[in-house]
Amino acid sequence: MKPSAVIPAWGKILRGKRPLLSIEITRTCPLHCPGCYAYQPEHLGPAGPLRDLRDFQGEALISGVLSLVRRYRPLHLSVVGGEPLVRYRELDKLLPELDRMGIEVQLVTSAVRPVPIAWGSIRNLHLVVSVDGLAADHDVRRAPATYDRILKNIAGHRITIHCTITRPMVGKAGYFEEFATFWSAREEVRKIWFSLYTPQEGEHSAERLLPEDREIVLRQLRNLRGGFGKIELPDGVLDGYHRAPSAPNECIFSQTTTCVSADLKTSISPCQFGGHPVCSECGCVASAALTTIGRYKIAGLVKVSDIFAWSQKFGQRASAKFAAPERAMGFSASEEN
Ligand code: SF4
Ligand code: SF4
Repeated sequence: MKPSAVIPAWGKILRGKRPLLSIEITRTCPLHCPGCYAYQPEHLGPAGPLRDLRDFQGEALISGVLSLVRRYRPLHLSVVGGEPLVRYRELDKLLPELDRMGIEVQLVTSAVRPVPIAWGSIRNLHLVVSVDGLAADHDVRRAPATYDRILKNIAGHRITIHCTITRPMVGKAGYFEEFATFWSAREEVRKIWFSLYTPQEGEHSAERLLPEDREIVLRQLRNLRGGFGKIELPDGVLDGYHRAPSAPNECIFSQTTTCVSADLKTSISPCQFGGHPVCSECGCVASAALTTIGRYKIAGLVKVSDIFAWSQKFGQRASAKFAAPERAMGFSASEEN
């Protein structure tokens, strides 16, 4: 979300709305990445695993997504999956329409198939391509979306590379420097982001970082970023990783984002990860950035997170108060704005 969107976002919160929306537009993905949160059994709770959920195609998907967007009126929409590009035909129609509506869209993809060239001229579209480490690791983890394939499929675009750091990447000398060197040299790459793997409660996977791993990685990234202009990793994000929220109710990102799954009605909670994520080990870039902003004290007195919590409570109460007479008069409460 751009800094200029902060005031409109606050306005929405004061009206009891969430300014950010994330939609898993498909249950399908040709990849089987280790540690993928979307396909973990607890991701959608009782609604069942994502691969078994109903999803939509064609006009039903286009109108379903637009209807959600009209309902929530987000300032920013994340399009995720599954793999969003399996619905590239629908996105060909949806993305220009969302652009006309003035909505910033972030599309997160493995780039397993070509990104249509026409998308390069959509002003409010931000393409984020997930790359899990150097080719030797990535190509095993994320086949068939290998380095070779990604490089062909992003040709002519301007993208952000997003690397989620997992345990197998830790402790290899010069690993992240080599990664940053490779992707910084590509003209298609505008920015490089690093996030940390976020585990679920009780998880004992090979991906989960130990507390000491987090410290090592964060130190390496802090030293690395100065030498690579394309790495976007401000102090605020690093600090947010160091001191992640202890629970979802302390996470501004979770409180300001509506997450909806592929049937376009199941909500994902407490955040995009679903299930029972370990907040204190959260590695989400957006959550880290907002957590640090929340700790900032205005005039050295009041924390932004306290103002946020007050605004949210005020908004929810006001929204409930005004919704009651509206319902009594027979208006539908389904179209929010
Ligand atoms: S590409 Fe994304 S959705 Fe598909 S398996 Fe990998 S992490 Fe999961
Ligand atoms: S984004 Fe991170 S801190 Fe926020 S609720 Fe999810 S796991 Fe917890």
